Amino acid sequence: FLSVKGLAKSFGENEVLKDINVDMEKGSVLSVIGPSGSGKTTFLRCLNALEQPNKGLFAFHDGLTLDFANSISKKELLELRKKSGMVFQSYNLFPHKTALENVTEGPTIVQKRDKAVVLDLAKELLIKVGLADRMNLYPHQLSGGQQQRVGIARALAMEPELMLFDEPTSALDPELIGEVLRVIKDLAKENWTMVIVTHEIQFASEVSDYVLFMDGGYIVEQGSPEEVLKHPKEMRTKQFLDRIL
Ligand code: ATP
Repeated sequence: FLSVKGLAKSFGENEVLKDINVDMEKGSVLSVIGPSGSGKTTFLRCLNALEQPNKGLFAFHDGLTLDFANSISKKELLELRKKSGMVFQSYNLFPHKTALENVTEGPTIVQKRDKAVVLDLAKELLIKVGLADRMNLYPHQLSGGQQQRVGIARALAMEPELMLFDEPTSALDPELIGEVLRVIKDLAKENWTMVIVTHEIQFASEVSDYVLFMDGGYIVEQGSPEEVLKHPKEMRTKQFLDRIL
């Protein structure tokens, strides 16, 4: 689906991503784990053009190629942005719009798609994430888990090729985590291509085809969940897993 080579991103003097190389297959789920500050969120934001890399080559298998060593046009950045839907740690819903309006907003305003078609799609997506009876409620009337499921439906409504999840359950009370992880697992079964930054190691091992362990702006270790999570080779991966498990 996508090959990333030599991705680097700094904020001022702070080199957050130093040299990230990864290949992603269509229909596969890639989880990114690693200590706080290791650059996981920045990596995800670079994939979605929310941050612009300083260096790096993104080569999509459909032909779109962006080389950040050269200057990148607005049009190319927009093409990159359109490929993925992002689900944020803190949901980022519009507070003055209902669940349904949150889902219809992007496709109607940004993509200028037919309102009636979008409305049907949005309802279908809210049913899919288990919110059939909550569509007309506002974010403050919903639990965190319900808000995050609206966030997932909203990203899906843009019909992206890639879904990006930035620690989707880390703001949730423990009893609400399961309902969000279930929705993500269902998407994995439907063969969505996804990148998930998560601290939920058990979930990562169940849902992922591939796991990246990041530390200090590098991918220290990558492989199957079995390889990285059960039989890590690198000392830093072992120490991280020992600390959090
Ligand atoms: P966490 O698990 O705590 O979310 P992370 O691995 O996702 O951490 P990032 O959020 O990518 O890490 O942050 C990595 C580093 O980049 C941190 O030192 C952070 O302060 C810095 N950073 C991130 N975004 C910005 C920004 N917009 N401007 C300046 N520095 C930033």
